[in-house]
Amino acid sequence: MPLTDRARIATSAGSPLPGEAIWQAVSRDGTHPMQTERAVHLLPLPALADNYIWLLHDDNGQAIVVDPGQSAPVEHALIKHGWQLRAILLTHHHDDHIGGVAGLLANHPVPVYAPDDARIPSASVHVADRGHVRLAAPQVDFEVIAVPGHTRSHVAYYGAGVLFAGDTLFSLGCGRLFEGTPAQMLTSLDRLATLPGDTQLCCAHEYTVANGRFAQTVEPGNTALAARLAEVRRLRDNHQPSLPVSLASELATNPFLRIDVPAVIDWCRRHHQPPADRTARFACLRAAKDVFHA
Ligand SMILES: [Zn+2]
Repeated sequence: MPLTDRARIATSAGSPLPGEAIWQAVSRDGTHPMQTERAVHLLPLPALADNYIWLLHDDNGQAIVVDPGQSAPVEHALIKHGWQLRAILLTHHHDDHIGGVAGLLANHPVPVYAPDDARIPSASVHVADRGHVRLAAPQVDFEVIAVPGHTRSHVAYYGAGVLFAGDTLFSLGCGRLFEGTPAQMLTSLDRLATLPGDTQLCCAHEYTVANGRFAQTVEPGNTALAARLAEVRRLRDNHQPSLPVSLASELATNPFLRIDVPAVIDWCRRHHQPPADRTARFACLRAAKDVFHA
């Protein structure tokens, strides 16, 4: 991980508007002897049925957007806050993640970073595993992490203490395997799990309550999970997003990041999985979630 992007996360001062909770990350530029700090902030924009389009901006109003499935919510936020769009980052080709790109490009001639996939024709800069997206404004250096599983070319972006995970890692869950194998998805999640615990996980869907119901069937005795689910229900009752969430919280609560924990191994054993095969355990867990109805 780029040490210059290790970040301290704090809630921003002041009261966020309903539905507009803003988080602040202060990135430290290790290349400067004075360790200058620049703040970036996150704003999740609800879109479509249950998507979040993530806007990240700095104190000068320079903004980027991740996975704009629609253009209208992004345009509305840019105008409302007086921000200037400087780049578009895409995690994968699904229409609810790229559907707003053409509309945004019509008004904002900005680079579009995306994996090399013919199904993302709007890409202007192709990204690849372990490459970087270095932006001048907002000044953030994102590391690209290939995370095949949900789709074969899915990538995640990590920088300024923030992880844009698309449809790979959700709070209390993970993405469906449309194109990849369980082994690929498990490797992808294993890589994300090595990021610092204070990493702020930004997922592309508000699935947390439904994911939590399934997670509790796997680990009914997990008190951290129960506390997180209670917090999420309170947030959702107040029309607040359940995201971002720290990776440390997910490591304590998300069964798909906990397949080596005894309680989850026991659950897999009860579902007739050989305890020594962690890929089989992951596949069993994912298959059970696919057919789970709360
Ligand atoms: Zn998707």
